[in-house]
Amino acid sequence: MSMNNQGRPTTPPSNETHCPPTHTGNKALQIEEALIFEQGDFVGTGVDFAPPKGLTPRLGGLARDAAMHLPGLSEPEAMRHYVRLSQKNYAIDMGPFPLGSCTMKHNPRLNEKMARLPGFAHIHPLQPTSTVQGALALIDVLASWLKELTGMPMVAMSPKAGAHGELCGMMAIKAALVARGEAETRVRVLAPESAHGTNPATAAQCGFKVDDIPADKTGRVDLQAFKKMLGPDVAAIMVTNPNTCGLFERDIRALADGVHEVGGYFYCDGANFNAIMGKVKPGALGIDAMHINLHKTFSTPHGGGGPGSGPTVLSEALAPYAPVPYVVKNADQYGLVEKRSQGAETSFGRMTAFHGQMGMFVRALSYMLSHGGDGLRQAAEDAVLNANYVRVLLAQEMSQAFAGPCMHECLFDDGFLKNSGVDTIDFAKAMIDEGYHPMTMYFPLVVHGAMLIEPTESESKEELDRFCNALLALAREAKRGNQEKFKGAPLHAPRRRLDETMAARKPELRWKPQTAEYLAAE
Ligand SMILES: *Cc1c(COP(=O)(O)O)cnc(C)c1O
Repeated sequence: MSMNNQGRPTTPPSNETHCPPTHTGNKALQIEEALIFEQGDFVGTGVDFAPPKGLTPRLGGLARDAAMHLPGLSEPEAMRHYVRLSQKNYAIDMGPFPLGSCTMKHNPRLNEKMARLPGFAHIHPLQPTSTVQGALALIDVLASWLKELTGMPMVAMSPKAGAHGELCGMMAIKAALVARGEAETRVRVLAPESAHGTNPATAAQCGFKVDDIPADKTGRVDLQAFKKMLGPDVAAIMVTNPNTCGLFERDIRALADGVHEVGGYFYCDGANFNAIMGKVKPGALGIDAMHINLHKTFSTPHGGGGPGSGPTVLSEALAPYAPVPYVVKNADQYGLVEKRSQGAETSFGRMTAFHGQMGMFVRALSYMLSHGGDGLRQAAEDAVLNANYVRVLLAQEMSQAFAGPCMHECLFDDGFLKNSGVDTIDFAKAMIDEGYHPMTMYFPLVVHGAMLIEPTESESKEELDRFCNALLALAREAKRGNQEKFKGAPLHAPRRRLDETMAARKPELRWKPQTAEYLAAE
């Protein structure tokens, strides 16, 4: 047994690996956190004032006469509760996040500092435009960077997520078809089998019928099959480039020409723009509309569905249908076009109450200005380099879905687990035991047991080595037949496997107290 210089033992007397349950249910400093309603009581509150003496109530007899059943916690208890909950979330500030097609594993602190500047943080969307000239200028500068990077003439800034940007693009396409008198006849939208679910969902939301374009054996759109599907009833194609297999669609120009020849539009899902930014201008590929997820390419935080921002660039053909509001520069003043009557007669309308996510705009522009055009290009190059580094290392033990180099993310199938008794889900859960958030699993659907990994540019070589070594060790162990380690995983997490389907289908969102008093009141 070794001792420190105060004579206290620094290693336990036995190297016991068995882990007995604790009295509290806590595991070391990982606290089993009860619901806030199950802590404290319903009587006290953080601050209790005695009822004032001699006060005549002025509520006309409407004062509450029963308890509110709010949890009564002291300020430190309340604070600890929420901090502990926050620590149960895995976050990009805690470790690598290998999810694919999700990107941005780094939210620079500089962005946060800029977004908190009172001139940006404390303004109100209903302020007169003369008092927010700086904010409007910022939206305008950001818009010009987006137009320059994509080579497109127009950008709608108001959509609040990638999916919302898709809706914006498809609504512009619908408006263009209405203007051409073809809305009734152009009813089909073509999308590859590997498409993100939001693509067909958006098209369906806009009233289109969606047909799947098959993939070829290289993981890209099957051009011959695509050509056969074209016809006068095609409204648009929705294609992701680079696609969700992490591959550049080599025939992208042929896809654009094909759909244009039959009079349709080309919607490009730009979620993976981080792989080509500064290298490829989507405008040069014949794209008519493309959303840009600021949280996937320009370092703004991913939230639980928000606050996001998905500006959508539009081609010359679709620009007249762009949603209001948008920023315009008149002489030396910035203004907002808010209504069709202000020169936006053909606009398809409005998608949001105001002008978009200001806080995200500030962060995205901070990122752009701190990188410069050459820095953004390098971020794309480094993202692709990192993905290929991971691809080559992992291919030693894992089975790459499609041969050859990838773009920003690398895709494996479950071929390497064949006959091991271990499935993709078991492998992913075992990663949690090793301290890693799993990669994207079972997506894209075109690959059996898919595992999609995107490191992005911001992980160091050392971090990538540690990550790959952990996965390689797991892969070897699975192949050796150590099913035990995988089937029960995660073994070290506070919870084991959860019934995710049940959680999604029958979520229990409301806590019901079990006290007699409360039950009587129900
Ligand atoms: C993330 C993603 C989307 C949807 O974007 P959100 O901002 O999450 O709404 C669409 N397509 C692809 C390929 C994506 O990766």
